[in-house]
Amino acid sequence: MIVRVHAGWLVPIAAPVLRHGWMDVDTARGDIVGVGAAEAPSERQADRLLDLSEAVILPGLVNAHTHLELSHLAGQVPPADSFVAWVRAMLAVRFGTPAAPAAVIGAAREAIASMEATGTLGVGDIGNTDASVSPLAASSLWGVHFREALGLRPADATRLLEETRLAVRRTHHTLCAAGNTRLSPSCAPHAPYSTSSDLIRGLASGYEPARAVSSIHLAESTEELVFLATGQGPLRDLAADRGAWDGTWPTPGVGPVAYLAQLGVLHHGLLVVHGTQLRREELRMLASTGATLVLCARSNRWVGAGVPSVSEVFASGGAVAIGTDSLASVADLNLFAELQALRDLAPDVPARSLLRAATLGGARALGCDALGVLAPGATSRAVVRVPPPAVTDVEEWLVAEASDTSDLRWLDDLL
Ligand SMILES: [Zn+2]
Repeated sequence: MIVRVHAGWLVPIAAPVLRHGWMDVDTARGDIVGVGAAEAPSERQADRLLDLSEAVILPGLVNAHTHLELSHLAGQVPPADSFVAWVRAMLAVRFGTPAAPAAVIGAAREAIASMEATGTLGVGDIGNTDASVSPLAASSLWGVHFREALGLRPADATRLLEETRLAVRRTHHTLCAAGNTRLSPSCAPHAPYSTSSDLIRGLASGYEPARAVSSIHLAESTEELVFLATGQGPLRDLAADRGAWDGTWPTPGVGPVAYLAQLGVLHHGLLVVHGTQLRREELRMLASTGATLVLCARSNRWVGAGVPSVSEVFASGGAVAIGTDSLASVADLNLFAELQALRDLAPDVPARSLLRAATLGGARALGCDALGVLAPGATSRAVVRVPPPAVTDVEEWLVAEASDTSDLRWLDDLL
């Protein structure tokens, strides 16, 4: 059945906003078959009309970086003044008194429900356990579950690589058994300060041939810059305290982007998460590789790492996506709240660019072709929002004032 939806505004992302636009949806296939302006009516025969003339429709949002397995830590690791102090506090809570597996899985399930309720359709989820895999498999979300590994001792790299690949295959089987084709499994190195160069190289190309995408935390804190440049500082102390330091890790002696470039792992399927400490030249260099920079500004502030230069990031011309990071370092997984934080940090960045990052930016990075746009072939599971009557610039409203999502509906629930 074809349903023609008339909307007050359509935000196609890859094309300008359409005021009083129409969108034809094939409800049997669950995808969009046509989008257009009022002046150019559809020539298709519609079986039914749906009037949403008070509403704005946009693609489901993509949270390109979170850790659902940490959802049970919500509210348990307070904001810190320094990154390493926060990491130590998080590790103490997570491993000091480990939560029961059922509680971890239950919290991940609740977190997914909150993402679905706030307009998120795509996810890049990082885990070093299986905890979030079954909840994800049963959800409406699309995207990638990255199995993450870390280990700074070069001698451990081969073993850790093999263990990670086994875990990815397990995720693959769980998703297949659930009949879930919306999500793919892949693998990811944690960060250059925690992961040896061989392990980074082994994981950063992703899990081929399923989906050759990967992810790495990069340039999150000043402590990371110090450790990469000198092999010293609070991150070296942390590695030693955790038994991860055996003195054989060769100090790169360069900045984070230069280091990954030396390792040959910067590619268009890599999600580079945070970039809080990247300078303009590094952002430009990163942009030229095709990698996607994933901003998690609220989390950066929470963990005491500062905030990214959001305007510089967008000015670099590189691909940008948006994530929340985990509930251990952010109050909620609501991407509209994340957009509002970015708007506060960068009043000069066009709302259109921020919305693109929150949709198509993440969808492309994760290899989800059906997400991120309103266009033929894209999923009809789109977000419906109702702006207050006085709103004329809906893109600005969506990024600056729409974090209360009590009005939010999913289009396919209305069809
Ligand atoms: Zn993270």
